Amino acid sequence: EIESKRLNERTKGSGDMYSRARISLSGGVASSYQLRDPWPIYLERGQGPKVWDVDGNEMWDFHNGFGSMLQGHAHPAIGEAVQARYAQGTHFAAPTEDALVVAENLSDRWGLPKWRYTNSGSESTMDAIRIARAYTGRDTVMKIFGSYHGHHDTVMVSIGVEYDKIGDRDNLASLPYGGGIPDATVQMTVPVPFNDAEAMERRIIRLNDEGRKPACVIMEPAMMNLGVVLPEPGYLEQVREITRRHGIVLIFDEVKTGLCIGPGGATKRFGVTPDMVTMAKALGGGLPSGAIGGTEEVMSVVEDHTVFQVGTYNGNPLVMAAVRANLEEVLTPDAYAHLDHLNERILTGCTEVIERYGLPGYAVGVGGKGCVTFSPKKVVDYESFKEHQNAQLSELAWLFNMNRGIFMTPGREEEWTLSVTHTDEAIDAYVSCFEELAEAITA
Ligand code: PLP
Repeated sequence: EIESKRLNERTKGSGDMYSRARISLSGGVASSYQLRDPWPIYLERGQGPKVWDVDGNEMWDFHNGFGSMLQGHAHPAIGEAVQARYAQGTHFAAPTEDALVVAENLSDRWGLPKWRYTNSGSESTMDAIRIARAYTGRDTVMKIFGSYHGHHDTVMVSIGVEYDKIGDRDNLASLPYGGGIPDATVQMTVPVPFNDAEAMERRIIRLNDEGRKPACVIMEPAMMNLGVVLPEPGYLEQVREITRRHGIVLIFDEVKTGLCIGPGGATKRFGVTPDMVTMAKALGGGLPSGAIGGTEEVMSVVEDHTVFQVGTYNGNPLVMAAVRANLEEVLTPDAYAHLDHLNERILTGCTEVIERYGLPGYAVGVGGKGCVTFSPKKVVDYESFKEHQNAQLSELAWLFNMNRGIFMTPGREEEWTLSVTHTDEAIDAYVSCFEELAEAITA
């Protein structure tokens, strides 16, 4: 309560802006994920690893636009590329050279030969699923219970942490996330638990028997919306083998992991290549971007016009210029070495605090992503997150951070994203704030 009051005091300007915004902006925000009680924090500007809100509070940014700003704010290389492109025309709905250079770069990084563009993560997963359905001639989609893949109907199923009754492991329920999603669509999406390849295969066999063989399995190779849940050793390899054996398209949704956890995303970091990947967020250096990569075979349905993978703004020149600069000039091998160094520093720092104060939790992360999971037991899937994660402590940690100049994603399910402009100083600020929290809750 004290921390909450303190934050309200510090962010009065945001409160005023929220009152005004609610008159003409539905709910006072541009996207429901920006909501927060009693009001969201309205930002004014960002530079490198820092952001400033409308009250002038200066904060280290560990939110980084839900993981989009791996480059840090206002990166000069991206700014220059965008300005140069702007001076030559912003949009043609015709291809430019940057679009093919980016595809070549992504092919090299991911080891998947064929690429297309979209404007967001949701568009990427929507199109990838359509391609998988067309390629296999099937309708059913398999996903991981709890995972978020964007806001189109097929994937707004069995996500979030609100459900209490989810069914048993072999028969997890298809549950709509919010209204407006037709039940017929919901029932076409079948969830299975993360880190349990046997349960996945049992469900596939049952679906086969029912004449509902899945077109695809769409999954994050490391779950990034229950904090961070890493794949257990061998799990991704097993999933790869099972999906291949059953002729199911394996889609790695790398909207969050892609580029953030390594130059070739989770695909290269974990060494398992899916049939398709979907990307967005950190790809565009802050501009709305998205991409789909796939094998020759799967992407053939795009090339033979079975699937119309289209969009007025796909491959937009301004975006492509930003993506190219991002890939060629910002996300270099040195940048990844720096991210790994920062990640080790933050994880080690938080782990030391946890041990010193005997906190019920652990620090987990990979590449530019990580979090402290307040749970006495290791979280491996949705069920264990729901059972063990301490929501109250997570909320308190968020308030503590915000009151001490650490800008973080709201909600108990999110994680931090580092940027290439973060420094040891930024990491130490995070860790010392975490130590203050530890002191307060153990006092
Ligand atoms: N896939 C994953 C794994 C995501 O985390 C998100 C967004 O958080 C999306 C897809 C949707 O991306 P967007 O919000 O750009 O539509």
